[in-house]
Amino acid sequence: MQLNYIANAAVASASGRTIPVIDPSDGQPFDELQRSNAQDIDTAVRAARECHGAVWGKLSAAERGRLMMRLSLKIADHIEELTALEQRDCGKPTKQARADAVALARYFEFYAGACDKLTGETIPYQDGYSVFTWREPHGVTGHVIPWNYPMQIFGRSVGGALAAGNCCVVKPAEDACLSLLRVAALAAEAGFPAGAINIVTGYGHEVGDALARHPGIDHISFTGSPGVGTLIQQAAAERHCPVTLELGGKSPQILFADADLDAALPVVINAIVQNAGQTCSAGSRVLIEQSIYEPVLERLGQAFANLRVGPAAMDLDLGPLIRASQQQRVWDFLSDAQVANIPMVAQGQIVDEAPDSGFYQAPTLLRDVPVDHRIAQEEVFGPVLAAMAFRDEDHAVELANATQFGLVAGVWTRDGSRQFRMARRVRSGQVFVNNYGAGGGVELPFGGVKSSGHGREKGFEALYGFTTLKTVAIKHS
Ligand code: NAD
Repeated sequence: MQLNYIANAAVASASGRTIPVIDPSDGQPFDELQRSNAQDIDTAVRAARECHGAVWGKLSAAERGRLMMRLSLKIADHIEELTALEQRDCGKPTKQARADAVALARYFEFYAGACDKLTGETIPYQDGYSVFTWREPHGVTGHVIPWNYPMQIFGRSVGGALAAGNCCVVKPAEDACLSLLRVAALAAEAGFPAGAINIVTGYGHEVGDALARHPGIDHISFTGSPGVGTLIQQAAAERHCPVTLELGGKSPQILFADADLDAALPVVINAIVQNAGQTCSAGSRVLIEQSIYEPVLERLGQAFANLRVGPAAMDLDLGPLIRASQQQRVWDFLSDAQVANIPMVAQGQIVDEAPDSGFYQAPTLLRDVPVDHRIAQEEVFGPVLAAMAFRDEDHAVELANATQFGLVAGVWTRDGSRQFRMARRVRSGQVFVNNYGAGGGVELPFGGVKSSGHGREKGFEALYGFTTLKTVAIKHS
């Protein structure tokens, strides 16, 4: 039985209720979580406020950095344990789960080093004045985390908030809590003061909503779907609480005829099959210049047919989807594509060892997808790649920008001028040229435009969002 983690103690929810933990590889329950309520959120917020006022807020930046580095090293010592937890809880193939645990350690390493480098500035003003700015923490920050990359998103969001001097109340997704509960316990072992990191599990409409509405939360970092992002922002608007929204995407990978296809195609495939396509920045549309459309589809089709899907522990190309409703969602998209006569080029294989009760989906390549079809417009959040042809650069830009989203774009061309032009003309938070990082490195600021959200996490930039700027003007003559 998993318990909440509040003020460095494992505690049961006030509700006395639980949620089963399901293994996506076989669809069977194997543990239980607390189904917390607003009272638990209130307890966690009080613990965080007390810690901020009495301890965390009084530590020097260097001391905060040392604690964060200790946590990074602890995580590094527990990579295999965290990998195993994440693999079972989220159905991630071993190498993906391990990559997430390694990234978590790296986030805390990066933000440990950033703590004492966040400075204000002095501003020239009128004679007889000294004016300067301070970067102050918000106080207590709330973090609502999705299930697709719990460790990575915890690292980038909570890591940045702690480094900036905040204490945190975290609501993980109900499908993905185990690794984060363990990390909170590791933080206590590393010497974090009680109340700096608090984890409250439960359903979004219950505890997530209570967190967004709590008057003791000074900033909310939400990563998840655009619909819930709207609810969070509405709740926060009631009390003018600042919000960072990291939402969905329908990211294009744009292949020009002069691209190095040997380099590009494996990356294009990985960008949609990584984590079974359940990635905000999945490259879910491939836009291909007309003159290479057929040969590229042939090569992609052959590669898709060879992809294998199976239980997370088999560590194949793809594991299962997170839950039955996500599997149904992908099936609904594919059946709409069939009704619209969208041709399927190829599908990968689900291995015989995959139990029928698991939530498996073969990766699927579709071609000639009309730009206004929902497969080209909406986030499937599964391993479905939509291919379309473009005539020229203008047409590529038009297709790339033709969705409500703007998270990531990939551009593949050897033409240096076109690399710059495309990077300027595509509307997205990130552009990768001749590479594609589903999120990229820890150092790189990350976020969206349009319905992909606003605000930035990761990199040093995140620290500006997790602080508020105070201007001090002193008249001394
Ligand atoms: P989701 O919006 O359903 O849930 C995200 C979190 O919000 C969960 O913790 C959930 O419990 C909580 N929640 C649900 N309803 C709530 C409510 N009414 N009030 C408060 N909290 C609530 O998203 P998901 O299905 O967990 O994750 C997939 C989505 O996340 C996709 O749209 C994906 O693109 C997006 N995502 C974005 C990024 C990014 O960095 N931009 C990263 C990962 C995932």
